[in-house]
Amino acid sequence: MFKQIPLDYSFDALEPFIDELTMFTHYTKHHRAYTDNLNAALEKAPVFAGRSIDYILRNLDKIEDSTLRTTFRNDGGGFYNHNLYFWTLSPRAKKVPTGALHEKILSTFGSVEHLKEQLTSAAEEQFGSGWAWLSTNASGDLQISTSSNQDNPLMVSDEWTPILGIDVWEHAYYLKYKNLREDYLKAFWEVLDWAKVSALYNSLTNN
Ligand code: MN
Repeated sequence: MFKQIPLDYSFDALEPFIDELTMFTHYTKHHRAYTDNLNAALEKAPVFAGRSIDYILRNLDKIEDSTLRTTFRNDGGGFYNHNLYFWTLSPRAKKVPTGALHEKILSTFGSVEHLKEQLTSAAEEQFGSGWAWLSTNASGDLQISTSSNQDNPLMVSDEWTPILGIDVWEHAYYLKYKNLREDYLKAFWEVLDWAKVSALYNSLTNN
């Protein structure tokens, strides 16, 4: 049975950048529903018994029933994506990446600011509900991508694993920012904890 990642901050801790009601609703309603639906689907899919969520999302084609496969894609994706999103947010966010990730960002994008600009543009341009991603592979390369709905890079190839995901569903920002996704994205960087992203990068790469 999968469980939502526990938050090590309160729902109002990210104010004024992300408001309390948005955080409360996002975590206790949206994320919880994805998680409950994923757990219910698992009871119909013995092929995934005991498997990690990474394995499940990389092996959706093992489910022959298309309705059940869609449930794993949407709710399994929603479970995984929000675990990453909520874990990387912090009221005590480190504003710059460290160590090997910092070096790789400099060699790939020129500067942290340039990476943030490219990720922000990708997130702004994602049409409708979806995500913008920064992913890595075993060699430590970095890739920016976007996805619709609750899809993510694990579903696309075996190579890439996300280390940072920006939720651009309206439920992530509409209560406070209304239609102004751009303002939400500016605020997102204020609470994105690069210490977490850097640690995840180190755990996934061979550096
Ligand atoms: Mn969301």
